[in-house]
Amino acid sequence: MAAVVQYGSQPGEVELRDVPVPDVSDGTVLLQVAAVGVCGTDVHQLYHTRKSSTGLPVTLGHEFGGTVVAVGSAIGASRQHRFREGDRVVSETAEYICGTCAYCRAGHYNVCPHRRGFGFRANGAMAAYVRVPERCLHQLPDGLDLELAALAEPCCVAYNAIVERSRVRPGDSVLILGPGPIGLLCLAMARLSGAGTIVVAGLTSDAARLAMALDLGASQTVDLQLEDLAEVVRSIGDGHGVDLVVDASGSSRALETAMLAVRPMGHITKVGWGPEPLNASLDPIVAKAATLAGSFSHAFNTWERVIALLGSGTLDVAPLVGLQAPLTRWREGFEAMHEGRVAKAVLHP
Ligand SMILES: [Zn+2]
Ligand SMILES: [Zn+2]
Repeated sequence: MAAVVQYGSQPGEVELRDVPVPDVSDGTVLLQVAAVGVCGTDVHQLYHTRKSSTGLPVTLGHEFGGTVVAVGSAIGASRQHRFREGDRVVSETAEYICGTCAYCRAGHYNVCPHRRGFGFRANGAMAAYVRVPERCLHQLPDGLDLELAALAEPCCVAYNAIVERSRVRPGDSVLILGPGPIGLLCLAMARLSGAGTIVVAGLTSDAARLAMALDLGASQTVDLQLEDLAEVVRSIGDGHGVDLVVDASGSSRALETAMLAVRPMGHITKVGWGPEPLNASLDPIVAKAATLAGSFSHAFNTWERVIALLGSGTLDVAPLVGLQAPLTRWREGFEAMHEGRVAKAVLHP
């Protein structure tokens, strides 16, 4: 079967190649992939150097939904099937977790030190089929398209950042730095949580995505290269800053902006990565008695809630999908995401 494979750790070492269909064994199912979202981390793997070559070659793709076509044969003998052939499902992203560390036992397996994610250390879903542990699967309600369900994963990232790792009370002001897919979904989650003023900030090159933020209900957008964010922040509420800043930008320097914009006793949640060192003092966190939280991945309860939101239509992610293409045209999707032309590209194997 054709698969989008990263085969080396240098930029550009990703190609469509022929790989075997995986076997299913006890505790796993074979999923026929209906739709797989292109994530910023997939794009990163195409354009940047990978830190380690462990796990290569690897099939990319960790945002996916599909249909169960085979169930590991030994399961039936040893325990009850939770899934059967024909089930429409989405999958979580941790292909392996140890199951025995303190985090796994407490249900926080997203931070299991032994976690291996699809599309990075384990073969992902940019292929006709992917092998998935049953533990990762969630049933989809009837009427929820598999194309949209493929966006459940980034929705879970946003849910974890806004609902689990932040506290938004009705009427709170929220500033989101970075209008990429995660930033836009954080906007949607902040709205669902009852936020008052929501400002989304980005660069001039983000113009299309900032326009989408307005469509998705942002109160205001800010072009950080043309406008003075401090002035915008002073115009919100009592002028002391925003209750919550979400850094979804992928730039280390955004944390400086977050510290400037957060109000005393406010909260900063960092969900965007930023590999560069931060040449700035963290003293504003102290002076403002602010809270800084990281947010990574998601776990079972978040998935069930996001699927409920998608299934009921309360959360509508269709406007984010700017490009759909067959897997053979994977590069178009990666390029469109890289250039910020679309918020989300979805591939169909
Ligand atoms: Zn992702
Ligand atoms: Zn563990």
